[in-house]
Amino acid sequence: MSTDLQTIAELLFPDVTESPEAILAHYPARNLPVGACVTRYAPSPTGFVHLGSLYTALISKKIADQTKGVFILRVEDTDKEREVENGIALIAEGLHKFGLDSDEGITADGSGERGVYGPYVQSHRRELYKVFIKELVVRGGAYPCFCTPEELDSVRATQELQKIKTGYYGVWARHRDITVEEVAERLAKGEKPVIRVRSRGVEGQKFSFKDAVKGGLTLTANDQDAILFKSDGYPTYHWAHVVDDYLMKTTHVIRGEEWLPSAPLHIELFELMNWKAPIYCHVSLIMKLDGGTKRKLSKRKDPEANVEFYAEQGIPKEAVIEYLMNLANSSFEDWRREHPAAPMNEFVLKLEKINVSGALFDMTKLLDISKNVISRMNADEVFARVLAWAEEYDAKFARLISKNAEYALAIFGIERGGDKKRKDIAAWSELDGSVGYFFDEVFDLLPTEGFDVPESVGRAAAAELLEAFLLAYNPKASADDWLAEMKSLGVEHGFAADTKQFKAAPPGTYRGHFGDVAMVIRRALTKRAQTPDLFEMLQVMGERRIQARVAQARAFLK
Ligand code: GLU
Repeated sequence: MSTDLQTIAELLFPDVTESPEAILAHYPARNLPVGACVTRYAPSPTGFVHLGSLYTALISKKIADQTKGVFILRVEDTDKEREVENGIALIAEGLHKFGLDSDEGITADGSGERGVYGPYVQSHRRELYKVFIKELVVRGGAYPCFCTPEELDSVRATQELQKIKTGYYGVWARHRDITVEEVAERLAKGEKPVIRVRSRGVEGQKFSFKDAVKGGLTLTANDQDAILFKSDGYPTYHWAHVVDDYLMKTTHVIRGEEWLPSAPLHIELFELMNWKAPIYCHVSLIMKLDGGTKRKLSKRKDPEANVEFYAEQGIPKEAVIEYLMNLANSSFEDWRREHPAAPMNEFVLKLEKINVSGALFDMTKLLDISKNVISRMNADEVFARVLAWAEEYDAKFARLISKNAEYALAIFGIERGGDKKRKDIAAWSELDGSVGYFFDEVFDLLPTEGFDVPESVGRAAAAELLEAFLLAYNPKASADDWLAEMKSLGVEHGFAADTKQFKAAPPGTYRGHFGDVAMVIRRALTKRAQTPDLFEMLQVMGERRIQARVAQARAFLK
């Protein structure tokens, strides 16, 4: 029998001359500290980084980093139909945008690779897969199957009719015991086989193993003779995963839980090769609440499934990463509360503490985290980030702020620095709307209705107030002096100094209170009812602009 297996292997792979041992010699054990984890992110180059993939990539990188291990970026491009042009670069850039550069494998710009356990693109590893699949055939763990799609369909139809499990297994695995003669004959006719695993599993058997995230699991054992090698000369995911992670010395395979049902097959393959399997860590998928039911965040239905969405919105990468870390382990939130300014790498993520139920995507929470992340930045940083974002996604805003750089810097500095932590900005794309009016180019185009004042104040009183405000305004006054000045100005014009006084007085005593005075000024300067701190705004806008805007507002109110 074993000579038959050898002959079949030779018939199938006559051009494979290298021995498995020779290859293994090129992949020595890694020289890493005890406890160091080797992890990898292994996407297909579909040109799209799903938020769920970023999530597993983040966990993989974090686990490698905190154990002084290695985080590999490997590209799984064996499904040529799904591949898009430039797919590798798009993935590498996608990771880079979120600060998840790899230590080994594809470089951050996607143009090359580094490390001695490569190549790191699966289509460049085809010879390796062949050497080992040939070896598995020799060992009796795999065999060629020449069934046509029609034959497989008819097997399935029969199984369905008999109401039994469908698939290529047990007695249904027609070519399991194919003879050397038949293999030779079919190959001579030009038939192209796939290579299947000869599973040792028996229907109904259970398989138990320990998942580092999910704990001890008992699943249905594999009994399917799954395809490992396709007739186009490429391995399937199953085979590529086993060969790659063995050669690259991956210690922890961190991947989405959609792969959990395949874990028994993968572990079986490691056993058939006599290789030590890595530790599996199946991470739950990111779910979304849709009309009361939980479903997987979908590439097709949800724009937020594509990580490009966050870049486009100008949500800082740190916010996305913090949000994902929070999904991974809810105790991250407490840690952040206790260490508001600490760098993320000080947080320790434990695999066994990772969220095991479907993590529910929550945009409001993400934006809240983003507001906090942005509140910790200083004005220079905000300016640099906004400019970089706008240059890519909003050319008009980029021009506006680079033309008025100093002014923009001052605007972004409002309520920022020192103890002040402005928490109203969640994304750079909001800024055009929320601070655009500071710039005359934008302000002038806003409808004059924005100058409108509360009815209780009345237009004439407002115009009067504005005139008095201009006369009284002293740009050199401190915040306290300015406030006192504004209050007395209000009082002179019949406004209560505060709401308390206003409410205590009989109706009709006052025209309004200080809040109304501030609103009149705020609207004159911004055509808006909501703005950052009025005093700081005045400081930033400067006298010339204040005068011009107040003049316009007065003209409108008269
Ligand atoms: N290429 C697989 C995917 O895109 C990788 C899964 C894994 O990490 O092993 O999901």
